[in-house]
Amino acid sequence: MTASIIDGKVFSQKVRDEVARDVARLKKDHNITPGLAVILLGEDPASQVYVRNKAKQTAEAGMTSFEFKLPPETTQEELLAKVNALNVDPAVNGILVQLPLPNHIDEAAIIEAIAPAKDVDGFHVINTGLLATGGKGMVPCTPLGCIMMLKDTLGSLSGRRAIVVGRSNIVGKPMAQLLLAESCTVTIAHSRTQDLADEVRRADIVVAAVGRPEMIKGDWIKKGAVVIDVGINRIDAPERGEGKTRLVGDVDFEGASKNASAITPVPGGVGPMTIALLLANTVTATCYQNGIDPASLR
Ligand code: NDP
Repeated sequence: MTASIIDGKVFSQKVRDEVARDVARLKKDHNITPGLAVILLGEDPASQVYVRNKAKQTAEAGMTSFEFKLPPETTQEELLAKVNALNVDPAVNGILVQLPLPNHIDEAAIIEAIAPAKDVDGFHVINTGLLATGGKGMVPCTPLGCIMMLKDTLGSLSGRRAIVVGRSNIVGKPMAQLLLAESCTVTIAHSRTQDLADEVRRADIVVAAVGRPEMIKGDWIKKGAVVIDVGINRIDAPERGEGKTRLVGDVDFEGASKNASAITPVPGGVGPMTIALLLANTVTATCYQNGIDPASLR
């Protein structure tokens, strides 16, 4: 078997097109233009690239983008004051504080300061609680993108055996909750899991969110399984020339492709979905804040 490729570039473009259409409807029918505020503290080059892309794609979708670049020495109190000001700004429907934050800032305190209704990253404890209890809240973007890809590939996920490798608050745990909500039988594996290969071999759906290059081997993948590789790892690529690097996922793509029925590549799989779902979450948040059913826009 050679796996089909789940193309995140194509899929994320579809999501962005839908977002742009929803934004146009919000403007036309309700006279509302969604606004997304992104706060970047410090000068981390990778974060600067992410924030630039977010702002560009927000504007392309027809939404208002508010960008706040704060100096690295910004204090906890100053950052909290900025978040609080955005919480009450009616032009702002979504707030995202780019992580990671510098060590002198209490990251959890900042996340908890964001109004849950504007928490488009879905990291606030109210939103994680709503996800865990089947309520209507904001769902973290990366796992939301993964579940959309899985449903698009497989249709119903009900009754399927799924494994999530990784238990972080931003990927692993919400991913497991979403799979459970789709009636999968879910295993969550982590660094203390006894026999990871054995656990992965039983799964119809494998979601890898570990951050270790090609750790999940091709022969661990059950025939016909669907593999979603969230990992983004930069490794040396001497074959491309001295000092060159390349990106790989957490799964041995070549090996896994021989057994899986479908697989996401790295790059070009889950990665592009994350910003697209951030935009979709901003539309959802805008709708909830204004008592509009998001489905009514379609
Ligand atoms: P974290 O480092 O927060 O979590 C990693 C998880 O992997 C932990 O739960 C850890 O277990 C587990 N783990 C580590 N080593 C092993 C092992 N040997 N066997 C089994 N489990 C192990 O990472 P994130 O969840 O934030 O991110 C995971 C990956 O996804 C990273 O590569 C990151 O870059 C990528 N990512 C990609 C995004 C995208 O847009 N595509 C968005 C977010 C992340 P334990 O809890 O026991 O320590």
